Amino acid sequence: MEPKTADLPIGSFFFLIGIGSNADPAERSGNGVVSSWKKRSGGNFPEDYVEIFRKGIHGWNPLRSRMVGKEDDCLRIPLVKKMRRTVRRVRRRLTSRGLILMYHRVSEKDVDPWSLNVTPRNFSEHLMVLKRNSFPMRLDRLVNAHLEGKIPDRATVVTFDDGYANNLYEAKPVLERHDVPATVFVASGYIGHRREFWWDELDRALLIPGRMPGRLELVISGEDHHWDLGAAVEYGEEEYRRDSDMSDGEPQSGTRLSFYFSVWEKLHPLPEYEREKAMEQILGWAKSGTVARQTHRPLDAEEVRRLKGGGLVEIGAHTVHHLSLSSHSPAVQREEIQGGKGELEVVLGHPVTSFSYPFGQFRKDTATLVRRAGFSCACTTEEEPVWNLNDRFQLPRFGVEDWSGEEFGKRLERWFNS
Ligand SMILES: [Zn+2]
Repeated sequence: MEPKTADLPIGSFFFLIGIGSNADPAERSGNGVVSSWKKRSGGNFPEDYVEIFRKGIHGWNPLRSRMVGKEDDCLRIPLVKKMRRTVRRVRRRLTSRGLILMYHRVSEKDVDPWSLNVTPRNFSEHLMVLKRNSFPMRLDRLVNAHLEGKIPDRATVVTFDDGYANNLYEAKPVLERHDVPATVFVASGYIGHRREFWWDELDRALLIPGRMPGRLELVISGEDHHWDLGAAVEYGEEEYRRDSDMSDGEPQSGTRLSFYFSVWEKLHPLPEYEREKAMEQILGWAKSGTVARQTHRPLDAEEVRRLKGGGLVEIGAHTVHHLSLSSHSPAVQREEIQGGKGELEVVLGHPVTSFSYPFGQFRKDTATLVRRAGFSCACTTEEEPVWNLNDRFQLPRFGVEDWSGEEFGKRLERWFNS
């Protein structure tokens, strides 16, 4: 693939503008973001930006990343880092800590560019590990314990983001079997939607084995963008199978997968209307249908109620359209936050008090809006244990991937000790 060289720096530029306006981006870890960006941009990453990203971001997985208003990472110096490490070590010895875990889909393996899926078998093994080595509890119980300053040591909370129907059909029976409670954060605008979440629709359109046209042209917000696919025009079964397992994934430049990431990056910050228009263009270009796969379809209203039934699963809010809130004005953010809560309450017939930030992305004003909307807590995707001094509107969570029980157990211990 030969991505339009002007295209990718523009994307990077807007991303940097976003960072500037948020004042203090914080992401996962060091060089991860650089390789991630290189992956997504087909290796066509402007070196000038590399240093900025190294300093400014801790790592990035856009479906799980965050933008938090706590500190300016660009100003970090070694002494400060060392002091933070020491504080963390002392904190670890003196305080009890819990972990909040984030899942998305539970279904059999499929192409999964963001590692969102966990198979039912592995999910069951994870819950066995949790029962054996931790104290699984409801999110509201953890929040109450947090308010009292008494988080039980090795407490764990299971959460799911987005509102996939398989949370009812695949995850809930396993949760019941192991008697582990969970919170499912549902994007209300997708309830009963016959189509998939846009990022899934995009992977189905672009990551299907076969031949595609050589050039994708999109008009987004009145601007022309294009991608020349080059060798990525062809996408073989073998490449597809390899991309289906991204656990050790380092997508190569010029591949169909890097093309997918590059288009994703362009759509991610858009308002709903603009993204829908772009998706229509892409689906038409790829001749891809819009009927949702069973493994990827969102819950309908009846299913949301059934998921809640029995009391083991709590339903939380996740905005209306799953927008990247930090890219939008306070008015749009308020509409999304309050709208999602209101729509879910109509479906459920009772108040919804837990929230999670789509893509983990928020600013300080976003957290204030969430609190004012009447929520009692909000989850981010910052990968840290929960302890008594966390802001309950910035509760960190660890993203869980399709690991075996053994691997999950190792990760759990590492997270408790991080
Ligand atoms: Zn989400």
